[in-house]
Amino acid sequence: MANFDPAGYQPAQNLLEDRVILVTGAGSGLGRAAARSFAARGASVILHGRTLSKLERVYDEIVADQSPEPAIAPLNLLKASAPDYFALRDRIQDDYGRLDGLLHNAGILGTLTPLAQYDVNTWAEVMHVNLTVPFVLTQVLLPLLGNAADASVVFTSSGVGRRGRAYWGAYAVSKFGIEGLSQVLADEAEEAGRLRANAINPGRTRTGMRAAAYPAEDPNSLPAPESLMPTYLYLMGPDSRGVTGETFDCQT
Ligand code: NDP
Repeated sequence: MANFDPAGYQPAQNLLEDRVILVTGAGSGLGRAAARSFAARGASVILHGRTLSKLERVYDEIVADQSPEPAIAPLNLLKASAPDYFALRDRIQDDYGRLDGLLHNAGILGTLTPLAQYDVNTWAEVMHVNLTVPFVLTQVLLPLLGNAADASVVFTSSGVGRRGRAYWGAYAVSKFGIEGLSQVLADEAEEAGRLRANAINPGRTRTGMRAAAYPAEDPNSLPAPESLMPTYLYLMGPDSRGVTGETFDCQT
């Protein structure tokens, strides 16, 4: 576990100035908070998500914040195929010429079910969205990340990605996988030195996914996504230069 104190971190107002950052699942929850927070610190954010109306809302919020104008990139990750990924890459290449940051945030819960009854199709969908897509997207975007002087890839993990828990099935296994993917990428990129990869565990957070997993819980007892942004900002910006292959907990 990396040694970082989110409470003591004071990100500069222009921390992400001139950086181009793609956030997956930017329409709600942690992705929305991260996109707004990156933009507020000067980044040009590419808002990816499944639901266009949610992305348009976040776009409006960012413009109202007087942050740099974002871009919108809707894509259903369950249905996307090679041409969709290449089209996204080409668009980023044409519009910006490089990618400085990539936050793999989109994810699905699947069902909370014992392995004995876990539906195989649900298993495959969760593994696809939570693990295979971050691999594919990273692979497709590597050349653009290579064009940046200080590129950062951040993968979203979970507590159940470090210690398995009953009934969390494919979700837990996909998060174990994401930690492995992050470490493999970090190790491969270390020699080049211009790209770092780390995994972040937000911890229990007030979002739609958390409410689906714990319907009886009072959402007001949970931290808001916005309160976790110091760790996200640290990992996306120059203050974490040289930090790679690590895992971070937003809540200690
Ligand atoms: P949300 O459900 O609010 O956000 C998930 C995002 O993923 C949404 O924007 C959603 O888009 C997008 N998404 C889901 N499926 C697809 C798809 N097929 N194609 C494109 N986009 C898709 O959850 P959170 O904000 O809580 O989750 C964000 C990340 O944080 C996830 O990786 C989650 O595993 C992780 N996490 C969350 C914790 C928590 O307590 N909340 C704890 C630990 C980890 P749309 O809204 O359009 O459907």
